[in-house]
Amino acid sequence: MASTRPLELDVVIFGGGGAGLWLLDELIRHGFDTVLLEAAQLGRGQTIASQGIIHGGLKYSISGLLTPSAQAVRDMPARWRQSLTGQKPPRLTRTLLRGEHCHLWQTAALKSKLAMIGARAGLRVTPAKLSREDRPPALGDCPGVVARLDEQVIEPASFLADLAGQHHLNLLRIDAQGGLRFELRDAGQVEAIHLIDPDSSDSLILQPRHIVFTAGAGNAQLRRAVGLSQRAMQRRPLHMVMLRGELPILNGHCVDGATTRVTITSAQDSSGATVWQVGGRVAEIGVAMSPQKLVSHARGELEAVLPGVDLGGVQWATYRIDRAEGDASGRRPDDVSIIEHGNVITAWPTKLALVPRLAQRIVSVLGQPASRRPFDPSAIENWPRPAVAQPPWEIQQQWFTDV
Ligand SMILES: Cc1cc2nc3c(=O)[nH]c(=O)nc-3n(C[C@H](O)[C@H](O)[C@H](O)COP(=O)(O)OP(=O)(O)OC[C@H]3O[C@@H](n4cnc5c(N)ncnc54)[C@H](O)[C@@H]3O)c2cc1C
Repeated sequence: MASTRPLELDVVIFGGGGAGLWLLDELIRHGFDTVLLEAAQLGRGQTIASQGIIHGGLKYSISGLLTPSAQAVRDMPARWRQSLTGQKPPRLTRTLLRGEHCHLWQTAALKSKLAMIGARAGLRVTPAKLSREDRPPALGDCPGVVARLDEQVIEPASFLADLAGQHHLNLLRIDAQGGLRFELRDAGQVEAIHLIDPDSSDSLILQPRHIVFTAGAGNAQLRRAVGLSQRAMQRRPLHMVMLRGELPILNGHCVDGATTRVTITSAQDSSGATVWQVGGRVAEIGVAMSPQKLVSHARGELEAVLPGVDLGGVQWATYRIDRAEGDASGRRPDDVSIIEHGNVITAWPTKLALVPRLAQRIVSVLGQPASRRPFDPSAIENWPRPAVAQPPWEIQQQWFTDV
């Protein structure tokens, strides 16, 4: 039976995607008594559906200028590398890499300027032009410049499992619809959180000094529940394409003028088949298309930008997903978004690559943990724990073969 005596905590985090889990790790390391509440599966929403590229800003500097977005993200590849190699916490040595680097290739418009862009824009990670022999097989027949970009590509499910495994006891699964109630002193000033165990109907009261919402699109509903405005968030939809079958491993962007025509990342499904996730402009303009129409459009695009790759016999599917971010009037925010009101912080990382920056900023906003005895984890020992979400290709039912 769970305790009904309130559990005093420094911080309660809502939402266990990349942002919430990295923050949990950071707070625990800084001595904050923290638990994370997850309403579904860890990373369900954006993190599990993402392409896992640890951007260093090149995507935002194709014009040759160091944009504010590029400036915010340019230190992130090095920061992630420290964690992925275990040199710096959080140690992410169980996180799988889809690739050590990305490739960048072009259609006609950008000519050989490609390799110069990053350097001119002051980025830490800049493209290195590849000779024909050093190109990956999938890009062997591309007519333009092919470059390597030292942006690692992580496998999001293993990243989520890695962090969750390190903080298993601090993760609680909740029923955010019927099993969650906020006790408020004022709008954005939470006195207590009342939880009902989704499996056993036991109850638990949490009394945190601070609350952090890192629930992605779920932040809007949480903000409403604590009396705060939902206009703080924007959604930008994507309609992503997936291919499954005998495909070469490829991670990278095809740039065309100032836009990313396609971004392709490669994963393996549970049967060992290669899966490509295709984003970039295809997924943006695909929002207005039906799955069939988008698949046929994507096929045309891929044939145009990858002349040497045989797409015969592969299966195709699509999935829709919204990017949830701090409000920037529909444009991509330049940086992470953090809003403070009362004892509630609402946060969106904007990019997975930026979750270390988001966590660091939140820790500096929170100051010092309260100096009292650490909380007794036995009060939550028997509470259900959340699982990691399944990647989109594992739950996809409808695949097209004849397109
Ligand atoms: C298709 C796609 C591709 C992308 N590719 C990249 C990329 O290659 N590189 C990059 O840097 N960024 C990428 N991004 C952006 C990146 O995925 C997101 O910025 C990041 O994953 C957001 O993480 P998050 O933890 O804030 O949100 P989410 O990953 O959405 O996690 C939110 C969590 O909160 C939980 N939750 C929801 N409601 C509640 C509630 N009421 N109570 C408790 N929990 C709740 C959810 O179940 C989920 O676990 C991509 C995004 C998309 C959509």
